[in-house]
Amino acid sequence: MRIIITGASGRMGQMLIRAVVQAQGAAELVGATERASAPSIGKDAGVMLGLDALGVNITDNLANCGAADVLIDFTSPEACLNHARFVADHNMAMVIGTTGFDVDQQAELDAILKDSPTVVAANYSVGVNLALNLIQQAAAVLNADYDAEIYEAHHKHKVDAPSGTALAMGKALAAGRDVKLDDVAVYSREGITGARESGSIGFSVVRGGNIVGDHKAMFIADEERIEINHFASDRMVFAKGAVRAALWLKAQRAGRYDMQDVLGLK
Ligand code: NAD
Repeated sequence: MRIIITGASGRMGQMLIRAVVQAQGAAELVGATERASAPSIGKDAGVMLGLDALGVNITDNLANCGAADVLIDFTSPEACLNHARFVADHNMAMVIGTTGFDVDQQAELDAILKDSPTVVAANYSVGVNLALNLIQQAAAVLNADYDAEIYEAHHKHKVDAPSGTALAMGKALAAGRDVKLDDVAVYSREGITGARESGSIGFSVVRGGNIVGDHKAMFIADEERIEINHFASDRMVFAKGAVRAALWLKAQRAGRYDMQDVLGLK
């Protein structure tokens, strides 16, 4: 499988190059791009990471890359839209990790990639995606006697709350109970809140230090408590999941897939 990585010297781009190298033969890096002003332009992608040379120089132009099967993009919404046009024009597949698209950009992306096999996920961790599935199953079994709460903790630099993954857990939980998250979510509690409303899904958030990402779904009854926990300790987990998605995508028809598809959980 021939892979192009965009945003090659970004935090995730560097991890993705390592993940492709670690895939040992199953995946081959044939191109790596960066924005024109990036200091890494012209450098070998392997040498940049202190690895052996890969024979792939980082370029600002996708047209300079070798013929590829899949493009993996963890950049920005604007850059990702341009990369998607290239993918559609060259009959390739695409793995998208970039987040933060507004409604118009999302619609544009969907239109550009309508005939391309595409995986989109806000979190490529295999463990998180399995946890989402387990949470939905648990919520379908554990009725409203079990108070459902979601907890998440992240590093002190994170600017949004609750995390996208905590919200995805909330949605999975709500789906298992056949309700809409928006109708039952309680995002903050302060002062005289009154007793807990049965059927609500509460969120709690911790910020501090360099926590990569902790998430927990709790089902709390009077007699027992079930918890589904996930702890991320290294961002490499997202890169490995994205490369797994790229390898899976090769055999797929045009369409939009997510990590639940990749892991065979649907
Ligand atoms: P980053 O800023 O470190 O890296 C982004 C890179 O893209 C930068 O090096 C930038 O120069 C490059 N870039 C920008 N425009 C470009 C262009 N036109 N062509 C080529 N490269 C270009 O950010 P990051 O932490 O690596 O995150 C990138 C994106 O991935 C963000 O949207 C983030 O939210 C998302 N992300 C998703 C997951 C997931 O599992 N889905 C995990 C981590 C990060």
